[in-house]
Amino acid sequence: MQQPRNRQFTLAARPNGPARLNDFSLVESEVPALGDGQVLVRNTLFSIDPYQRNLMGNGSSEWPTIAIGEPMGGPTIAVVEGSKNPKFGVGDHVQTWTGWQDFAVSDGSDLRKLDPNAAPLSTALGPLGLTGFTAWYGLTRVHDFKPGGTLVVTGAAGSVGSMVVQLAKRRGLRVVGIAGGPEKTAWLTKTLGADEAVDYKADEFEAQLERALPDGMDALFENVGGPIFPVLMEHFNQHAKMTICGTISDYSEAEPPQGTNYLPRLISLIHYRFISIKAFATPYVMDTFPDFLAEVTPLVANGEVIYGEEYVDGFSELPATLLKLFGGKRSGKKLIVRND
Ligand code: NAP
Repeated sequence: MQQPRNRQFTLAARPNGPARLNDFSLVESEVPALGDGQVLVRNTLFSIDPYQRNLMGNGSSEWPTIAIGEPMGGPTIAVVEGSKNPKFGVGDHVQTWTGWQDFAVSDGSDLRKLDPNAAPLSTALGPLGLTGFTAWYGLTRVHDFKPGGTLVVTGAAGSVGSMVVQLAKRRGLRVVGIAGGPEKTAWLTKTLGADEAVDYKADEFEAQLERALPDGMDALFENVGGPIFPVLMEHFNQHAKMTICGTISDYSEAEPPQGTNYLPRLISLIHYRFISIKAFATPYVMDTFPDFLAEVTPLVANGEVIYGEEYVDGFSELPATLLKLFGGKRSGKKLIVRND
């Protein structure tokens, strides 16, 4: 019988602007050998996430990138194919960080064992994985958002934003979601329970925002950044709190974000309205992951939070699917690539 080979998508070049298909190389090698204490996993599902664009190197991120020739990183769902580690057995389902390759070995420390009967395995990439954790952490552990106040969420119909909307409603906040297009805004109010939704692509965006924020904005969960922030910041109430989760609008930029200089106005708003702005990154706060799972697993298992998934079939589709994430025309559902 023919031995399986290990396909990997490695980084071939750093994009100078939007990522392109030829920034990746498809390479094949032997399936890695299993050493003492190690686990051999075969990836079955790959999560596609905005930060993967930052891993390739760009003008806006200051965080570490992957080296040219290294496999693209990212969360996956995998099955254990071989184990010399007593904590894992062949056939176990795990969530890994092994990225865009068929097989990988791990010492087990970065593997999370999954119970396929507790929730669908794919949820470990979405509402019960990095996506849900990001929403939960940014909402509960960065600032103390008070019930009753108005929280604005940008990228609200995206994977993280849609979780923020629902978790914030459960915490008693009035939630205003910002998203692009009438389908997304209707989904936010009619399905997810946002109090108001504003279409930033509409001509009357600023008027819609005024109507949605009659008493101003007490909190902002920022997923997008870019040109709508200066419009939003004028709505900050006194003592407003802003959590910077991400700035996806500038991840494809070759240079650090440029634009009209609204910094003096922002500093003045911070001064006169006592605004508090904080940011976070999940890799630095993984110690709270068990608290997140304890709170959110029952909500997902009982169908109390809604999440959308869009599947793409085939390992070869990984690069194109990441490009699609930045193409500006997608549904906002979590993108998952099924291995073939
Ligand atoms: P996602 O599912 O792709 O959703 C992002 C949404 O952003 C899209 O649905 C899109 O909605 C909007 N968007 C606006 N400008 C965009 C652009 N130029 N390209 C692509 N989308 C754009 O992503 P996600 O997984 O929810 O991530 C949301 C944010 O969380 C990102 O900034 C990400 O980097 C951040 N994040 C941070 C952490 C952390 O540790 N701090 C961890 C994970 C994710 P519209 O069509 O409505 O514009």
